[in-house]
This record gives sequence, C-alpha cells and structure tokens, in this order.
Amino acid sequence: MKYETFFRTELDRLRAEGRYRIFADLERHVGAFPNATHVNGRKRRRVTVWCSNDYLGMGQHPAVLAAMHEALDRCGAGAGGTRNIAGTNHYHVMLERELADLHGKESALLFTSGYVSNWASLATLASRIPKCVVVSDASNHASMIEGIRHSRAECRIFKHNDTADLRRVLREIDPDRPKLIAFESVYSMDGDIAPIAEICDIADEFGAMTYLDEVHAVGLYGPRGGGISDREGLSHRLTVIEGTLAKGFGVVGGYIAGSAALCDFIRSFASGFIFTTALPPSVAAGAVASIRHLKTSGLERAQQQRRVAQVRERLSELGLPHLENPSHIVPVMVNDAVMCKRVCDMLLERHDIYVQPINYPTVPVGTERLRLTPSPAHSDADIDQFISALDAVWTELGLDRTDTHGDDALPAIDMGVLRHGQLAAAAGHRALHHAPQFAAGLARAPALGGTAAQGPLARLLTKLFPRRAYGSVA
Ligand code: PLP
Repeated sequence: MKYETFFRTELDRLRAEGRYRIFADLERHVGAFPNATHVNGRKRRRVTVWCSNDYLGMGQHPAVLAAMHEALDRCGAGAGGTRNIAGTNHYHVMLERELADLHGKESALLFTSGYVSNWASLATLASRIPKCVVVSDASNHASMIEGIRHSRAECRIFKHNDTADLRRVLREIDPDRPKLIAFESVYSMDGDIAPIAEICDIADEFGAMTYLDEVHAVGLYGPRGGGISDREGLSHRLTVIEGTLAKGFGVVGGYIAGSAALCDFIRSFASGFIFTTALPPSVAAGAVASIRHLKTSGLERAQQQRRVAQVRERLSELGLPHLENPSHIVPVMVNDAVMCKRVCDMLLERHDIYVQPINYPTVPVGTERLRLTPSPAHSDADIDQFISALDAVWTELGLDRTDTHGDDALPAIDMGVLRHGQLAAAAGHRALHHAPQFAAGLARAPALGGTAAQGPLARLLTKLFPRRAYGSVA
C-alpha cells in the first residue's frame, strides 16, 4: 500500500465533503477574556471569541491562577508518574474530596480528561459487571459511546430524552440482568436538558444504575455549581455523576463521583485510570480553587444567564434562526456545511469575530450551525458588534430567517430523531415553517440514501420547497 497516498486521498475526500476541520491559531489573554489574538502566518489580529467552553472565564480567574502558580513553585511541573507509582499528590487528594463534596457523594476519582473518565468508567463498569446491559441515550457523547463499545457489553439505545422509549427498552431486557442507564444532563450541541428525575424514577422501577454526564453543566448550574442534578436536588439519586474540570471550571481533567465502593472499584480495575500519568499538581490546585470559588459565588452563573438571554432576544428580533433550549448553549442554525463555514470565515475576516462552524459528524448533515456560548465576560458592546456582524453576513449570503411575527411557537425539530434517521417523523413538525432548510437537510441525510437527493421523501420536499443551490457539499 502507498500509505501517504492513502492519507492524502482520505483527506481530499473530507475536503470535498466540506468536513475538513481547520483549527484557528489563537492566543488567549489573561484579563481580556473573551478576546484573543488570531495568528495567521505573520498577521496577528485581536478577535472576540464566541464559542469557548471556558464557559465562565474561570481559566483566567485570579484565584485559579494564584493557586496554580503556588503549586507549580512548590511541586514542579509534572505529577511524577501514575497515581500508583509516584503520582498521587496531596492536591489530587484535596481535589477528589472537593468533588465528592460538590456532588454530595462519598468519593470521587480523577482522570486526565472528561473523555477518559467516560471511556474508562463506562468500559470498566459494563465489562466487569457480569451480563450488564447498557441503556444509552441516542445523543450521548462520543466518549460514552466509545467506552460502552470497548466494554463489549450489550448496548440498547433509547430515543433521545424519551422516557417512554427508555421504558420500552428496559421492559425488553431480562429483569434479572444488571442494567446501567447512561445519559447527559445538558446536551452540548442542541443545549437541551434531560428529564433526570423521571429517568431516576424509571431506573428505580427497573433496578438499573444511572450514569449521568454533567460535563456541560458543572460549575454552571445549581446553588453550588454541582450541575443540573444539584439544581434539581437529585444528586443523591444518581449512581455515578461524571464531569470535567475543563469547561465551567476552566482548567483540565475529568472525574466521576459516586459511592466509596464504586470509585474504589473503578480505581482498581480501570486501565484508563491505572496506566497513565496523573494530572500535574498545579492543574489539580487550580481546579480546587475554581470549584471552591464557584461553590460560594453565584455571580458568574447569574451574569452568564443574563448574557445568554440578551443574545437570544437579539437573534429573535432579527429572525436569525436559533434553537430554543433551556441552557446556556445557543445554536444558530445554518443547515448547510459550506454556508456554515462561509458565515464563520466572513465573521473572522471582516468582523474580527471567532466562532467555529459545527459540521457533521459532530451534528447530523443538514443541521450545521454556529454554537454560541455567551459568557459573563461578553459586554453589551461585544453583543452589539456580534449581532450586527451576523445580521450583515446573513443578508449578504441570502440565508433564511425565521418569522419574527410570533408563530415561532411551533414545536422544535427533534435533533435526536433526526440523528437516528427517523426523518419522516421529524418532517411533520416544522416542515411548513422551516421547509426550505429542512428539505436541504433531508436531501443530504444519510438515512435517505447517503449522498444527494436520492430518497423519495427528500426529492418530494426539495421539489415542494425549492431553495438556492445546496449541491456544493456533495
Ligand atoms: N462529555 C461530553 C458530553 C462532552 O461534550 C465532552 C467534550 O466536549 C466530554 C465528555 C469530554 O470532556 P473533556 O473535554 O474534559 O475531555
């Protein structure tokens, strides 16, 4: 095989499909969040970032930086090994105590990232518990899916956030088999929130364990920043709460919290915990400072919610289509991979605004979007500048707007349904309101036959609701 040719051909295919990812070269600045310098060859430009997952700007909080500096000076750069050999530092122990307390659990266990915590914990639980069946939400994150896959345990998928379907799936499983329901609180691309209480009720009824990923909620929700389960007083009902230190807490690392026996079990059997070097002590110290701060300060959370509401209101006024959801994530829908990239390029080149296009496979084909994450540090002026820039770009590209006269109460497209190919069901919802975008999405959806408008439903919708050329993706 000609290996280099193979690599290049595969990359060319990605480019032709409009799915090739380009990372912006950015330098963040302490004291100026959410601004950064964009480096493009020799050119350096200051830009405003609208898509950071350092949701509250804790990555530059003075208490976090001071704690990290102090630990770095005291303990040096690295942890010195795996936790088992030479890597357990007092900062790791303090951080695990802080996390257990945050979620009202007996114990917590640290990992090098949220991805690894999901991968290692789910793989270990599902492979080590005899005959375990994992019941997984259809929209779960790649790290959960990979962990479940790696376990080789039986996995049953229920429709996204659909408790009736969850019951249906559980009813079909032998009552004597151990079961683990895996789901998220805030789903990162659509920003919708799981019915956690109802899922816990169902888990109790069927004797299942629950595994909740709170990656997009910790630090941001609840009186102490313990996530949606904290906000809803449900932490005690979940078997495992998983989170990250990288988003709301602004540092890096992942963890699970649960009973002492469960955490000890994962500590003792999970390859992804045992055989890798521990987080640097300075990182653990920064995370402790961030969690402590957000346990007592609600200011950042309140200001973030205000900014999110302002952005949503301004988008609605101009008919810039965005998904309504109850979280801090604001998906602005372009529904076309090439157009989505063009919107982002124009925002960057002409308006010094950085927002990354979100394309397949992160979201289904036909639902490409900008994923905005307004932060407490975005000012009124930042919002004014962003909205007028987006408005101008939208007009120049001739993109569709939603009706701003009040019939937006139509039910939102269920992205979970879309994701799993049940396109005919979804088409009924908003077809008249958003028919052109919808037809475009359907035309290219894999469930309808892969490439261009091959499926009969796609052909029919595209004919009924013709729109400008979409073909540039295929
Ligand atoms: N879980 C979900 C739902 C995520 O969206 C992500 C990453 O964005 C992760 C886990 C992984 O977390 P980390 O970035 O800490 O690896």
